[in-house]
Amino acid sequence: MAGVNGDGAAGRDGETPPTAAASVALDGVGKTYPGDGEGGSVRALDDVSFSVADGEFVCLVGPSGCGKTTLFRVVAGLTEATDGRVLLDGTEVTGPTTDMGVVFQEYHLFPWLTVEENVGFGLERSDRSAAEREARVDEMLDLVGLTEFRGAYPKSLSGGMKQRVAIARSLAVDPDLLLMDEPFGAVDAQTREMLQRELLDVWESTGKTVLFVTHDVAEAVTLADRVVVMAAEPGRVREVVDVDVERPRDRGDAAFAEYVGRVRELIGAHP
Ligand code: ADP
Ligand code: MG
Repeated sequence: MAGVNGDGAAGRDGETPPTAAASVALDGVGKTYPGDGEGGSVRALDDVSFSVADGEFVCLVGPSGCGKTTLFRVVAGLTEATDGRVLLDGTEVTGPTTDMGVVFQEYHLFPWLTVEENVGFGLERSDRSAAEREARVDEMLDLVGLTEFRGAYPKSLSGGMKQRVAIARSLAVDPDLLLMDEPFGAVDAQTREMLQRELLDVWESTGKTVLFVTHDVAEAVTLADRVVVMAAEPGRVREVVDVDVERPRDRGDAAFAEYVGRVRELIGAHP
């Protein structure tokens, strides 16, 4: 990413407050979707407990239907848990909050707004002055390497660029936690690997806590400090794997392949 220079996205020149990161704790989270009268109810999540430390990068992997999106929505405060609770820096999550930046698989950009207007959207409601908002948008565009596309509309951008806009927008309000649900699922393999490297650069330069959902095991092993492996029916945590490999990680590396194999085995394993 062109603008990543390792000196921190926020706090530069003292213009913006120091960057913040928060811990996340899931405590016995369960979610049952009621049946529709014909089908029975679905236990999408059952007794899910794990935590993410301040500034940690955690990936959530598991087969389709194991409750990854449900968990993402519960953490984001978009869906209410049936049991248990989610704590963000010790405070229970009861609804959506600007303390979290949320990136969905579909880009969710506003087609009628330019790149810079999309990035600045969340800032409109903040108490920053117009000049501060503008400076923040500039900083975010620089961070994701989209400065020269600031006046473009989403329809003219590639999938990878759209997702960069979505990431810049989610980071603009300086959230404590970046929550991502299969954000690179809709782009080609080459772009995907580039976006992964860029996201790691952003993570390293901002120090954000990241909770990243994917069903791509190699993606999880590329990115995460720890991988939470989930199992389906009911959706639950099978195991949490520490990825003890130096970054940048090389996919051709024996240790990398070993972790991928181990996580795949856990996903394929039956109780
Ligand atoms: P994943 O993201 O891992 O593919 P989801 O969280 O989307 O898993 O789904 C977990 C389970 O919950 C699946 O069985 C799915 O069919 C069910 N489910 C998800 N959303 C709803 C909903 N709104 N109503 C009823 N069932 C749902
Ligand atoms: Mg999903």
